Amino acid sequence: MEEILRIKYSAELSEACLLPFYDKSKDFQYINFKLNNCNCSWEEVITFVNIGLHNEFYTNVQSVPNPFCMCVLVNKYNQLPSTYIPGDLEVIDHRFNSSNLLLRHVAREAFEVMCRAAEEQGYHLEAISTFRSYTYQNEVYYRKMTPEISLDVYQKERDRVSARAGHSEHQTGLAVDINDLEKTFEDTPEGRWLAKNAYRYGYILRYPKGEEPITGYDYEPWHFRYLGLEMAEAVSQSNLTYDEFYVRYLSYTKPTLINN
Ligand SMILES: [Zn+2]
Repeated sequence: MEEILRIKYSAELSEACLLPFYDKSKDFQYINFKLNNCNCSWEEVITFVNIGLHNEFYTNVQSVPNPFCMCVLVNKYNQLPSTYIPGDLEVIDHRFNSSNLLLRHVAREAFEVMCRAAEEQGYHLEAISTFRSYTYQNEVYYRKMTPEISLDVYQKERDRVSARAGHSEHQTGLAVDINDLEKTFEDTPEGRWLAKNAYRYGYILRYPKGEEPITGYDYEPWHFRYLGLEMAEAVSQSNLTYDEFYVRYLSYTKPTLINN
């Protein structure tokens, strides 16, 4: 039975290979993934395998080739160098900053523009977590570890809500947690305003509801990622997670086009 399906899928795949993000070297993985997820369309199969989802999270990890690129993809398969600290970090205006938090220059400017626009409409936005170094992220990840818990059990729970060092978007200096780290934030006036408007200022909601199988994270209505106006609008309109958007539209583009 499996052999018959393999032949059928192989024929179907030869039509799907017209998709620009199809990668011939992954045919075997595409077909295996389809065998285990027959309800997925070929477009989804190719997208998910290209993200790396045919492997467990934190396996087959690649080093990010372009840490400083505005469109850099950091997730459980793509790791930043431990030494990476962006060179253009700046302190956010204290009116919108819970302490002395830093973002990269363009992300800081856009964040302040967004905060001012929100303020004019009666909403107060405040950064509560932004850039985190590799070392600090390591502390954050292991902060809840106790001697009674095994590492396996700890990782299983912790991975849903916190990134392992090198895998946090916060290390890019392009991500910001806003106001409140509770799911109820989505139902606050500020949470609703952000969900609707952030893309107008170059930010996207990075970990949407129901997308944990793809992003690897539980829903985070407070975590926004700077991508620039054009890209944020395109991602927002696509209704895809950034992981999907990246492999469909950016990963096969010549690096000269995606480097800033
Ligand atoms: Zn965050």
